Amino acid sequence: MSEQQNFDLIVIGAGSGGVRLARMSAAKGARVAVVESRYLGGTCVNVGCVPKKLFVYGAHAGEDIEDAEGYGWSLPKDQVRFDWARLVANKNAEIERLNGIYARMLENAGVTIIEGSATLADANTVVVENQRYSAKHITVATGSWPVIPDVPGKECILSSNEMFYLPQLPRQAVIWGGGYIAVEFAGILAGLGVETTLLYRGDLFLRGFDGDVRRFMVDEMKKKGVNLLFNTNIESVENVDTHYHVRLSDGTRLVTGLVMAATGRRALVDGLGLESLGVEMTDSGHVSVDRHFQTSVPSITALGDVIGTPQLTPVALGQGMVLSRRLFGDGQGEMDYNSIPTAVFCQPNIGTVGLTEEEAREAGHKVRIYRSEFRPMKHTLSGRDERALMKLVVDDESDRVLGAHMVGPDAGEITQGLAIAIKAGATKAQFDSTVGIHPTSAEEFVTMREPVA
Ligand SMILES: Cc1cc2nc3c(=O)[nH]c(=O)nc-3n(C[C@H](O)[C@H](O)[C@H](O)COP(=O)(O)OP(=O)(O)OC[C@H]3O[C@@H](n4cnc5c(N)ncnc54)[C@H](O)[C@@H]3O)c2cc1C
Repeated sequence: MSEQQNFDLIVIGAGSGGVRLARMSAAKGARVAVVESRYLGGTCVNVGCVPKKLFVYGAHAGEDIEDAEGYGWSLPKDQVRFDWARLVANKNAEIERLNGIYARMLENAGVTIIEGSATLADANTVVVENQRYSAKHITVATGSWPVIPDVPGKECILSSNEMFYLPQLPRQAVIWGGGYIAVEFAGILAGLGVETTLLYRGDLFLRGFDGDVRRFMVDEMKKKGVNLLFNTNIESVENVDTHYHVRLSDGTRLVTGLVMAATGRRALVDGLGLESLGVEMTDSGHVSVDRHFQTSVPSITALGDVIGTPQLTPVALGQGMVLSRRLFGDGQGEMDYNSIPTAVFCQPNIGTVGLTEEEAREAGHKVRIYRSEFRPMKHTLSGRDERALMKLVVDDESDRVLGAHMVGPDAGEITQGLAIAIKAGATKAQFDSTVGIHPTSAEEFVTMREPVA
């Protein structure tokens, strides 16, 4: 073992939160190391947001080709080909490019990158590949990992991780789950021509999203050919030749070429040795922290997916910046979890910020609801039977806009701007006095005049 290196901060995990914390802390003059066991950039860059969105673009391109017909372009159907291997290879090349950018960003910031899996030997010492490193502060930013339910044949079921590297596309696929990752993958596969079934044990998918959005998505996904089975669970999966026989809770059986579970993620703390150091965990298995990301051991902090806050890259980034200021800056600022905007990159996209109608009513608000459903202008000529939904939830007493929800093209792009208005406390009257941008779908948000409820 060579001589032990000392740092001000060791970050375990070079994902969204860890990299941001490491870079910002090094910029403040701290001596920082980051330990990474798999891939620089973490889940988001390698098996999350980025490759997912590239696949969504890929799936959507097929629709764009069809839609071009109404605009005068002709491409005979028998000449349209899709090459999965090319999409995956191009995606991989882009991810490698991003891995390189992350390495350079860290190196240029003066951060030491340590490759390997970290274990905590004591409250100030990290061991990687038999080498010991010590630091005044250690941050656990190890993220989360997919959970596949314990059913017979579990080993045949893929998680989102493997979906990004499938050697070939199956003819049919079953997606198990009702959260955003399940819905997004159903959209990707259906868009790429795979006969897709999404099955979910609850009444309706996308729990936590506005009820109108959830119901609207049922219609839109059905139009795209996704077979939706609610109140249904998987009992077992069996590999028979090149196929999988999926036994469902209603006694029926599906035969398919692929089964993917998007049924939840757990905190990734394997092998860290947190418990033996007395780091407290929550009942859900996350690292327990206070609002300053402090664990029960004074020198150890934690952030990102591993602490059980909303599992989103911008949340981990925000936490990294707040923690860096606390450890090496003026200590000012706290992470604000109110009105976190988010998008689901299903087809069409969902964008959402603030309270849903159900949450607003439960919180005791008397609300006015503004809602508009329409066919996006593009589809007047494309002929595609796709509709958009926009909805505002307004507090009747104060006139404040409590929530904005949208299903339609570019919903994520549109919602980001609305999020600023909602965070700033904009009223419906201010939305109304804002001049629209014409002709766009987004202008609907400033032209909805009559409440529907
Ligand atoms: C399919 C999918 C799609 C997603 N899409 C979106 C999206 O569209 N928008 C969005 O905002 N969020 C999205 N997310 C969520 C987002 O990726 C995560 O919230 C984010 O990556 C969390 O960042 P993190 O820093 O907490 O952890 P991670 O990014 O997961 O990074 C943790 C890192 O720690 C490393 N590590 C773990 N244990 C050790 C150890 N013992 N030693 C050394 N290194 C270790 C891991 O290898 C990993 O690189 C998606 C996630 C998935 C799975």
